[in-house]
Amino acid sequence: MPLTGSDEFAQMSSAMVYARDRLTALLGELRYQATHDELTALGNRAQFIEKLTEALAEGEPPLAVVLVDLDGFKDVNDSFGHEIGDRLLRTVGARLHRAAGRGDVVCRLAGDEFAVLLQDVGTQAEARQRIDALMTNVARNVDIRGRNLHVAASAGFALAAPGTATVVELMRDVDVALNAAKAAGKGAVTAFEPAMREATQERTELSGDLVTALTAGDQMSLAYQPIVDIASGRILGVEALVRWQHPTRGPISPVVFIPLAEATGLIVPLGRWILGEAVRQLAAWRTEFPDGYPLTLDVNISAEQLEDPALVGEVLSLIDETGIDPGRLVLEITESALVQDLDAALRRLRQIKAMGVRLALDDFGTGYSSLSYLKTLPVDILKIDRSFVVDLEDDGPGAAMMKGIVELGAGLGIELICEGVETVEQRRRIASAGCRMGQGFLWATPQTAPAISEMLRWGVLGPADRPADRPADRPADVKELPSSAAALPAQRSRAEDRETP
Ligand code: C2E
Ligand code: MG
Ligand code: MG
Repeated sequence: MPLTGSDEFAQMSSAMVYARDRLTALLGELRYQATHDELTALGNRAQFIEKLTEALAEGEPPLAVVLVDLDGFKDVNDSFGHEIGDRLLRTVGARLHRAAGRGDVVCRLAGDEFAVLLQDVGTQAEARQRIDALMTNVARNVDIRGRNLHVAASAGFALAAPGTATVVELMRDVDVALNAAKAAGKGAVTAFEPAMREATQERTELSGDLVTALTAGDQMSLAYQPIVDIASGRILGVEALVRWQHPTRGPISPVVFIPLAEATGLIVPLGRWILGEAVRQLAAWRTEFPDGYPLTLDVNISAEQLEDPALVGEVLSLIDETGIDPGRLVLEITESALVQDLDAALRRLRQIKAMGVRLALDDFGTGYSSLSYLKTLPVDILKIDRSFVVDLEDDGPGAAMMKGIVELGAGLGIELICEGVETVEQRRRIASAGCRMGQGFLWATPQTAPAISEMLRWGVLGPADRPADRPADRPADVKELPSSAAALPAQRSRAEDRETP
């Protein structure tokens, strides 16, 4: 039947209505997708920024922005797979959503980072109370597929009265607070303080300078600190310690810039340079003392270097290139380097050990100090931390522990080195506890390579073994070892064989 004009019109208009509705639905969907996180169905970063902008513009009472970041989420993903990781994120999102108040906004910004906008918080104390309640809710164990997972999270927050801060400033401040919380350890909740911003700016600046320093070539150097036989003062080895001479700020301590290099990943190229430089110096000492001074070289290795698949190959080619005896090279790792990805670290350490290189556990007695590591770890040497040495008394818990560690070392065939020995008294105490090797300002501070060569000519650190007419260019900072260095004939004659400086 032919269509009348009004039928056609009716058809056309219903098609248009359909198309309009469809378009509206599509736009709604698009808008939803643009502002929501698919995984948790929470709002995403765009939505959070939108809500925050509105809240700041509306002139409401003070609000708090909270950033919540899961602790160790990477480990969950790595060990249990992404599916379980995703379910954990959904659970955390749901918990935050339930625990937040009416009118508060909860969004997932990225990865394992959530943001909460708390409205009407009043004071900082009030904000903290509400955030603590949120966090208690988040940090409950969760059962996923029969696995009982521990959930931990850190949070940073910043308060703002409308009109006093922009969205950009506020988000930057909360980020700074979250970084401070992360640095404070697991499960911390940290409020933003202006001083943190300066510290962050300083870190950012220094990180930039560190990149320049790596390419500039003349700002980084290595110092070497002797490791000695306590009874005789004989130098058994040296530890390489990196030094940074900043062009305007002067020397910067590795305690400051190594963590920065670790956080930015710069430790990988820096560590590669340190290892190369140090091993080549060891080879140079071998040439300088051709009768084979049995010197060992310790090099510190950070966790991030252990994560680098290239490390094993680099050590191997350095040994090849320089022809050093691998047994003379000791890599120092700390226990904290092992908590990140123990399996991968162990695999690499075993490969390195298989070349004949030895391993030392640095700063033993601080941090996690889990004795169980000693069972699984292929360590040859324990370096007992300075804090232990400082607290050591003749009798008391420190002395008993030191004796215990000495026995443990003997039982496991592990050598011990006491770090940070500064006084004759400390030397006496560690020696009477049975420790045979030491390192510390008592014998020598870290020195330049030529200064170490100078010391090696005499072999022993202590006045008893140095000639009366010491060379004028004798390294500064060499501390005298009173009386002790009961002459070691073998070393003496070695020194005497050589030309007197
Ligand atoms: P560490 O590996 O435990 O190195 C020993 C630190 O103790 C050195 O500090 C050394 O100068 C200091 N020290 C030695 N004897 C004494 C003493 O008698 N008294 C006192 N108070 N301190 C003493 P330094 O050179 O400032 O290095 C600090 C830390 O920075 C090192 O601790 C190590 O963790 C890290 N570091 C240094 N160089 C490197 C490096 O080349 N690579 C890596 N990854 N880390 C490094
Ligand atoms: Mg060390
Ligand atoms: Mg140490």
